[in-house]
Amino acid sequence: MHSSATRVQEHIGDPVSDAPPLDRDDLEEVFQDIQADIRFDHELNGCLNCGICTATCPAAHYYDFSPREIVQLLWTENLEGIYDAMQEKIWSCAQCYTCAARCPFGNSPGGLVMIMREVAIKHGMQSAKDVLRPFSRVMLKLISTGNQLSPDMIKPDHFADWGPNIAKVDAPLKLLRQAIPMPTLNTLETAWEVNLKTSIELYTIWEMTGVLDQLETIDENLFDVISDIMDEKREDYEDWLEDQEDEDDDEDD
Ligand code: SF4
Ligand code: SF4
Repeated sequence: MHSSATRVQEHIGDPVSDAPPLDRDDLEEVFQDIQADIRFDHELNGCLNCGICTATCPAAHYYDFSPREIVQLLWTENLEGIYDAMQEKIWSCAQCYTCAARCPFGNSPGGLVMIMREVAIKHGMQSAKDVLRPFSRVMLKLISTGNQLSPDMIKPDHFADWGPNIAKVDAPLKLLRQAIPMPTLNTLETAWEVNLKTSIELYTIWEMTGVLDQLETIDENLFDVISDIMDEKREDYEDWLEDQEDEDDDEDD
């Protein structure tokens, strides 16, 4: 069991100005949230500072990012450095876990980055808002349909990087999808149709696991839109249940 106290020096902040970037209590709270995650002790066992993780990390080749640095910050409990890394660097990781496969200590730098990202979301950090904003349409799609992508989202204008391959989606998708024997796939608006009961169950999971709280912290407007959609679906489900009961009663009569 890890301790809640940190080994960090008492003074935190810019050595020339004496002004801390954030109140020390806030820095501690961020670190303690990272440390309290159930995965933390499994993913950080010590660090040789050998750099094997960084040498094999694809993100380190392209960005100002080093898994070795992230692990060192956490291992030495450098609160200010941890907070600083959460403002940009942690979002560079591709979550490929090559680092975890190579680390001689059995650390998972990619897993630690994931914990830091979740804590950044919990604390409503601007970096999390900026990184996640482009995904709001996907989130809306996921909540409203149960799928994160649908055939009608694949438009040639949106995928210029596909080059000539984009011509392949310029096919009569509607007709082709209707030819699929499973009726739940005969649609372009979602990848497949998710039934109401499953949607409602997903909402319950997202509520109970704190996903929706995180969404509210990051994007209140999107949260409001999604809450309305969830309410409507729940009402639809209640109506459907009532219809079923009425049908059962009619059959009994
Ligand atoms: S999981 Fe992240 S830190 Fe680890 S090798 Fe992949 S990109 Fe690098
Ligand atoms: S996390 Fe592992 S691979 Fe990376 S520097 Fe530390 S000991 Fe080396």
